[in-house]
Amino acid sequence: MSADAREQRLPVVLHGIGVCPGVVMGPAFVMAPEATYVPDRRLQPADVDHEISRLEKALIETRRQLRSIQQDMEKREVLVDSRILDAHLMVLDDNAFIEEVVGRVRKELRNVESVVKEVADRYAAVLSSLDDAYLRERNVDVKDVARRLIRNLTGKTQVSIAEMARQHIVVAQDLVPSETALFRREKVIGFVTDYGSVTSHTAVMARALAIPAVVGLGDISHRVQMDDEVLIDGHKGLIIIHPSAEQLEQYGRVAEERRNIEQGLRENLRSEPATTPDGRRVTLSANIEGLDELEAVAEYGAEGVGLFRSEYAYLSADRRAVSEMEQAELYTRVAKRVAPASVIIRTLDLGGDKQSPDLPAHPEANPFLGCRSIRLSLQNPETFKIQLRAILRASQVGNVKLMYPMISGVEEVIAANRLLDEAKAELARDGVPFAPDLDVGVMIEIPSAALTADAIAPHVKFFSLGTNDLVQYTLAVDRINERVAYLYKPTHPAVLKLIQQAVAAGHRHGIWVGVCGEMAADPLMTPLLVGLGVDELSMAPAAVPLVKDAIRSIDYARMQEMADVAMGCILPGEVVEHCRRVIGADAPELLALIGSPPTGETPAET
Ligand code: PEP
Ligand code: MG
Repeated sequence: MSADAREQRLPVVLHGIGVCPGVVMGPAFVMAPEATYVPDRRLQPADVDHEISRLEKALIETRRQLRSIQQDMEKREVLVDSRILDAHLMVLDDNAFIEEVVGRVRKELRNVESVVKEVADRYAAVLSSLDDAYLRERNVDVKDVARRLIRNLTGKTQVSIAEMARQHIVVAQDLVPSETALFRREKVIGFVTDYGSVTSHTAVMARALAIPAVVGLGDISHRVQMDDEVLIDGHKGLIIIHPSAEQLEQYGRVAEERRNIEQGLRENLRSEPATTPDGRRVTLSANIEGLDELEAVAEYGAEGVGLFRSEYAYLSADRRAVSEMEQAELYTRVAKRVAPASVIIRTLDLGGDKQSPDLPAHPEANPFLGCRSIRLSLQNPETFKIQLRAILRASQVGNVKLMYPMISGVEEVIAANRLLDEAKAELARDGVPFAPDLDVGVMIEIPSAALTADAIAPHVKFFSLGTNDLVQYTLAVDRINERVAYLYKPTHPAVLKLIQQAVAAGHRHGIWVGVCGEMAADPLMTPLLVGLGVDELSMAPAAVPLVKDAIRSIDYARMQEMADVAMGCILPGEVVEHCRRVIGADAPELLALIGSPPTGETPAET
């Protein structure tokens, strides 16, 4: 399109849900949804040679793409070794595979993509029926390679994010964690999606990487075209397609001011403790999904890692399973880097919106209520023990703690601890060193766990409140469904009562209680959570400075008072207003940075 045509376009402003603050602008990179349709055509005998040469070209291109991704992975610290793509490359070099495809194209006179699909599906089915776990896993590699090959054959190749040549704003219908795991600040400067909500894992990743993002925009992936100019205001949850020169200027100025203030806070507060003016000390730690984020932990002044979401090692970079030694190496690297501070490694929390293509295919009508997280681990004790042993191996260096997700009652804690004892005995038998008394904690993210916290507490050393799930399960609001996002209220009285009960139960039993859901990252919620007695807040590293500022600006006594008032409120919006009043009085500059009510709220609510 010519520059003139571009200039004539009028700005279009769209509102969605801001999930990571910040203002950015740049050209759009529109990700097409994965094509599931594979063309199936008959060939004339005269077309066969041309068809085979298409296959050869696609094989060369696919090899080139895989090598380029491998090189890229080698250059930066990613969760898994670039050698995992060797298996993909081996499939491309497998003569039997290629000969079968060529033979069938010639014999059946069918187009090459349809034959590639059939042959690959058959290979994958054979592999997945084998007893050997390693070979079974390779079925995923075959499917992935076939998909890439077919995309290259159909010409529907989209440049993958890993191969993006310059900075873009990613526009997509939806993104899965394995895609966001490939985002890097230097290439993906922002993203917008049709679907999603504040606590979807896509949003969690945006905050982890500090990439401004707006989700739940309805049909943005159809409205925007490749390279259209897009401006994102992640704070207000709005985007502008084809922004005018004045809008660009105005937003650029506001964004720069905000960046300067935030940078000042970051530098000034980095080494300061999170202590209220009247002396209440709170631990502020970081939520991370991978090694790439470790630098940010220290940079933003967090004290160690309060939540290491270990499942991302399974979901990212085409890797579907990680062996005991690979996991142990990963956990050891994290523990060493954050020592002497601690790292809380959460055992696998797969399921829900973190689906691994490698999990047994048991489609569930309600995946968030299904075989998720600790349930999956307890149903697969051998796989679970591999992870437990890996965490134990890492516990001999640094300060490693272990946490079980999605506990619904004490029986699950007892069952998990029993497997942990078995894992310890196995390592001891083999003479492998580990910390025998490593702290074990649980996430309180299901109402039943909050209500029975007194029964759970004697079996653990800490609680960490997973408010993302706690809100979803208490209010029966799917955390990733943008259509009900307006009902997702962390300040709902029912949620606050559960938080209060869990904190009180933990303290009665002499254990500390933290919050690692997104509520911990919202400075507006800081006085409320600290006032309720929470000892630790864990959040995306970039959120630490503002939360620390809130803690250092408001007396604990005042926070306790405000928590008392909040507990008497009937409407979620009243609680929010009350938080704003307290912060406005004691930390007006912070309130200015927090800005207007969070997006995703219905105006009627407050
Ligand atoms: C939570 O549920 O609040 C939490 C921290 O876990 P996740 O977001 O990974 O489900
Ligand atoms: Mg959770």
